[in-house]
Amino acid sequence: MALLRTKMELRPLGNTGLRLSCVGFGASPLGNVFGPVSENDAISSVREAFRLGINFFDTSPFYGGTLSEKMLGKALKALEVPRNEYIVSTKCGRYAEGFDFSAERVTKSIDESLARLQLDYVDILQCHDIEFGSLDQIVNETIPALQKLKESGKIRFIGITGLPLEVFTYVLDRVPPGAVDVILSYCHYSINDSTLEDLLPYLKSKGVGVISASPLAMGLLTETGPPEWHPASPELKSACQAAAAYCKERGKNISKLSMQYSLSNKDISSVLVGMNSVRQVEENAAAATELALFGNDQEALVEIEAILKSVKNQTWPSGIKQS
Ligand code: NAD
Repeated sequence: MALLRTKMELRPLGNTGLRLSCVGFGASPLGNVFGPVSENDAISSVREAFRLGINFFDTSPFYGGTLSEKMLGKALKALEVPRNEYIVSTKCGRYAEGFDFSAERVTKSIDESLARLQLDYVDILQCHDIEFGSLDQIVNETIPALQKLKESGKIRFIGITGLPLEVFTYVLDRVPPGAVDVILSYCHYSINDSTLEDLLPYLKSKGVGVISASPLAMGLLTETGPPEWHPASPELKSACQAAAAYCKERGKNISKLSMQYSLSNKDISSVLVGMNSVRQVEENAAAATELALFGNDQEALVEIEAILKSVKNQTWPSGIKQS
């Protein structure tokens, strides 16, 4: 019990002045992306997360075709706490009907998102999966449009997200300093793939805050395994399954070890994990507090890394994924 009372660590996000909980609440599961989630479960998961010190919640109009934003909006409202006690990020440019990073679409998009979230502003608005659009359009049209939204007060900070790490350097090398406040990378800082690490000094030099999503590699690093749509190769899936089985046999949990691996790097402001139950929220929050008290389980990590060696840093084409 004492463990759960240890405070969730807050970390600064680049130059934004925001302090994000090191465990962030990924709300794509609230859009039923990983299977159905009841409204009750959605609301109680968000409530428990907030109670345990998680102050950062991420969603997108794309998740569940706007369902995630609506559920997160309801759940945050149900908290009945002042708006400045939590940080919300959503996204623009990717929708159930396809991609559109035009200034006109993203400008309309934020109003739709704010209505669904029942909020007056979001803390961060991110261009969602920019590798699917024209990166030059992102630089010359989308980010300037978001700049105007910043001036209007509908958003506080601007971010970009994507799978291939090169998209971040492409954009950040071409926009004025400070135009992009945050990057969100996913599936590149987990036990099986840690390629984001090499980019961290560059991102720091640009003053850009770093959010790392999908520490469980979108379900690969869980005992139940990934959803049917998961784009990993059969080799990667089976290696992760073997690692999960190895942990289970020794009374350890692959998801907890994976969370702790991702949380260990303090240059990452928040590790965004998708959660859809109070139990998962409690486990992931406990992973952070136990890490702060006891450090990583190095022995288990060495064994898991050995099991995953042949698939280390293996990724997949970015055109086939859900969240
Ligand atoms: P993830 O790696 O966080 O895995 C989520 C899966 O793991 C879900 O099935 C969840 O129910 C399960 N899970 C969570 N905690 C668990 C635990 N303790 N034990 C067992 N299973 C557990 O993948 P994700 O949800 O795709 O990523 C996290 C969040 O990051 C998303 O919800 C989203 O907000 C964000 N994200 C953004 C982008 C992008 O912008 N392009 C891409 C991926 C993720």
